[in-house]
Order: sequence, then structure tokens, then C-alpha cells
Amino acid sequence: LKSVIDVENGEGMEVDIVVAGLGAMGSSVAMHCSLRGARVRGFDRFERGHAYGSSNGKSRIIRQAYYEDAAYVPLLLRAYELWEDLERRSGERILHLLGLLLAGKEDSPILQGALAAARQHALHIEALDNRAMHARYPTLRLQPGEVGLLEPRGGLVVPETAVRAFQSVAVGAGAELHFGTAMTDWRADGDGVDVTFADGERARADALVLALGPWSGATLDCAGVPMHAQRNVQVWFSPATDAYEASRFPAFLLDRASLPVPLYGFPDLGDGVKAAFHGYGIVAGPDELERSIDEERDVAPVARALEAWMPGAAASYREAKACMYSVTPDENFVIDRYPGKSNVVVCAGFSGHGFKFASVVGEIAADLALDGATRHRIDFLRAGRFARERDAAGDR
Ligand SMILES: Cc1cc2nc3c(=O)[nH]c(=O)nc-3n(C[C@H](O)[C@H](O)[C@H](O)COP(=O)(O)OP(=O)(O)OC[C@H]3O[C@@H](n4cnc5c(N)ncnc54)[C@H](O)[C@@H]3O)c2cc1C
Repeated sequence: LKSVIDVENGEGMEVDIVVAGLGAMGSSVAMHCSLRGARVRGFDRFERGHAYGSSNGKSRIIRQAYYEDAAYVPLLLRAYELWEDLERRSGERILHLLGLLLAGKEDSPILQGALAAARQHALHIEALDNRAMHARYPTLRLQPGEVGLLEPRGGLVVPETAVRAFQSVAVGAGAELHFGTAMTDWRADGDGVDVTFADGERARADALVLALGPWSGATLDCAGVPMHAQRNVQVWFSPATDAYEASRFPAFLLDRASLPVPLYGFPDLGDGVKAAFHGYGIVAGPDELERSIDEERDVAPVARALEAWMPGAAASYREAKACMYSVTPDENFVIDRYPGKSNVVVCAGFSGHGFKFASVVGEIAADLALDGATRHRIDFLRAGRFARERDAAGDR
């Protein structure tokens, strides 16, 4: 371990906050901390704008009627405010609120969960029965009994633009961001954290924020949180019809019994229609991920599922990209102080649905790193929940 730093002798650099990992979450944390006046240094192992992590692929769904757990809704309401704030600060267009259509049988847990969250938080969603959904979107091929929920404030976030905007606002507020520099070690004591990097760079900080995306496995493991990286492929097609242009068709998520998992996607914003299965792929370490695309294995099943729902959408294949989910056992995030280390904050395990929250995750992590506490209700995202489960299992 090379983590002894002699700052007084001029080795290493003393800052308030070191952020390790500059994907969506780390870039947002760096921005929030530096906007609050902290001296921030951020580090990423790859070059700026790289596509090896989880924050790329031109579109991420954003929605508020959160079927996964209504406890996310207050965080989402704040996330929307902060996305709009980021747009103002950066001058970039990040949000495209073109609506989000959830479709499935009336008793689908996804539709039921979304309805419950909408009721609990008085969110506006429109229920469409089979006939109304067909009248609204006449090209759709619906199965008997399928209904829809349309969330007008749903839509998409553009991940590459969002990450770039976080970084440029952070730098404008004084943050120093370093790329191609991997963190190799950290050691926390009562007064701060010593961090070392692959190029020999060292830093001493008051607090460290770990936002390592799919590379969080070892860190989380030491904190008692099981997590695995899962390969997920996003596919783009050229449609044969203009019915799926973004001005006419919303983002969607389809829960259909004949599919292995839900199919979701985006209308054509100029790059074709994009679709993917949600949470369907092999488990692989982030450094072993197979990035090459096998059309028969990766593209054909998505094309078939898309055509069966949106005829003409998958007329010809354009491109596909493999990306990684970082999945926890309950598919909820981990945003917390590292167990036993009050000056280390972990943001990880976003389980394939975290991007829409990146704006508020930065705010929460900045609260934890700078103030030691947050006003946001994140008890259900605490790292300790898995230890509690293990203890309970042991008691039985
Ligand atoms: C195909 C796909 C579709 C998705 N769809 C949606 C969606 O529709 N809606 C939604 O809300 N969410 C979605 N998600 C989830 C969302 O994209 C992720 O939750 C989010 O991007 C995670 O961001 P991150 O910053 O945690 O990870 P990353 O973007 O992977 O960032 C982690 C960074 O840490 C860096 N790093 C790792 N190790 C080190 C080290 N030792 N030192 C320095 N740097 C290091 C990496 O280089 C990387 O840049 C999707 C994810 C995928 C893969």
C-alpha cells in the first residue's frame, strides 16, 4: 500500500473532496461540491467522454410515477428541478419530456406500482384502456387486455450531454478533473483520507466520494454490499414509418408475458428508434465485459420484440452497444457513508435505473461529504440494509 502521504513536504495535494469516478454520479458530485465552494479534485481511469462505463447510449428514461418504490418519488421531484437547473447553468438541452408510455396487462406489477406511486404523490398520469391506446397510437400491435399509463412529464435524459454539462459546470466552479488516472488505493483516518493513483499521484482530502459504477464491486464487497455487473445491450434501428418520430411517439416500457423481461425504448430523435431489454444479460466483471455485438444473440431478439409491439420500428438494424448495469440484490441504490468511515461516501449499485437520479445523487453525496448528513430521505438506500438481512437470516 502506497498511501502514506507527506503533504507537508510538498508531496501530494491537499483538497476538501476527492471524487473517484467521473461518470454521471461522480461528475454530478464534483459539480455540487464545487458549487458549494469546496476545493474538488475528480479522477477517472479513462479518457473524458469514454463509453466503457454505464453513462452512455444517447438516451435514458426519466419518469416520476416510480413503480419500483414510491420512496424514490421525492428524490425524483428534486432530480427534475436539478436537471432544469443544470440546463440553465450549462446552456445544454438535457431533458426531452416527450412523455412515457407504460404498457401491459392491467394487473402488471409495473403498471400497478406506477399507479400506486402516482396516487400517493398526486402525480399526473393518464390511464389508457386498450381502445384508447390504439386510438392514440394506431400503429401499435396490442394484445387483448393490454392497457397503458401515459406520464406526460416522462421522457428521456441525454447521458453524454448531462455528463459533459456536470463536468463543465464543475470546472467553471473551480474543480480540477483528471482523466486517464485510476485510483488504486485509499485509506481513511479520523482527520481525512489519503488517496493514491496509478500514475503515482497522491492526494489528501477531508472526504472521498467513491462513484466507481460497475467497478464498485470490490469496494462494496468490503462494505458488506453484494453487487454484480450485468451486460445489457442497447440497439438502434431505422424505422420504415414516420409514426415513431419523437414529435408523435413517447418513450415506452412494455411489460408483456411473452418477453423474458420488459422491453423499453425511445422514439426516433434523429438516430433511429432505440430499444433494449431491461435487465437481461450475462453477469460479467467490468473488465471482462464482451463489447462486441453478435447480431443473432444481441440484436435479433430485440428486433422481434420491438416489431411485435411497434410494427415497422425495427425495419433495419443500425448499431448496438453493450453497457453495464451494477445490480444490488434488492435493485435499490447504495448512497451512504462507507461503513465505519465517516469521511468516505459511496454512490453505487444503481441497478440499471439510476441515471435519471444523477442530478440529485450529486446533491445528496455533497451533503454527506461536506455536512455529514442530508435532508433527503435515503434510509432505504443505506449500505447497512444488507448486513441487517444477513443478521436476520443468521438468527433464523
Ligand atoms: C444499457 C443501459 C440502460 C440504462 N437505462 C437507464 C434508463 O433508461 N434510465 C435510468 O435512469 N438509468 C438507466 N441506466 C442506468 C444508468 O445509466 C446508470 O445507473 C448510471 O449511468 C450509473 O452512473 P455511474 O456514474 O454510477 O457509473 P459510470 O458511468 O460507469 O461511471 C463510473 C466511472 O468510474 C470510473 N472508474 C472506475 N474505477 C475507477 C478507478 N479505480 N479510478 C478512477 N475512476 C474509476 C469509470 O471509468 C467510470 O467513468 C441504464 C444503464 C445501462 C447500462
